[in-house]
Amino acid sequence: MNSLGIVKRLQLGGDIDAYCGKCKEIREHVIAALSAQGAVERVQCRTCQSNHIYKEKQAKTASTRTSTRGSRKDTGSTAESSGPLRAYSMQEKFQIGDRVEHPKFGLGVVVESRSGKIDVKFGRELKILIHAG
Ligand SMILES: [Zn+2]
Repeated sequence: MNSLGIVKRLQLGGDIDAYCGKCKEIREHVIAALSAQGAVERVQCRTCQSNHIYKEKQAKTASTRTSTRGSRKDTGSTAESSGPLRAYSMQEKFQIGDRVEHPKFGLGVVVESRSGKIDVKFGRELKILIHAG
């Protein structure tokens, strides 16, 4: 008896979820190379076919918001940041007033919307981002 049934054996050509630097997302990858210890060394992204070194998934979950201050006022709000909060994606269309959550810059507000580009204010910094508008 052994415990082989518990851990899925990694093998060449097998599937593994890994972060793809090209797709900038966790993607399904094919194992392209294994080390002598049987650890995954190289993987190939099934989506963009790029072959790269295997990186363990980084547990970057900063979304532990425990400070819920329920002070929501709907009366006479002159708030420029009253739009819905959405995750930034260049495939999305944004409008002035939209609140966007950018993976790198954090929370921002769209202050200008042009064809293909939006100006987003992240705190004191203004960034020009691509969008589908
Ligand atoms: Zn990829």
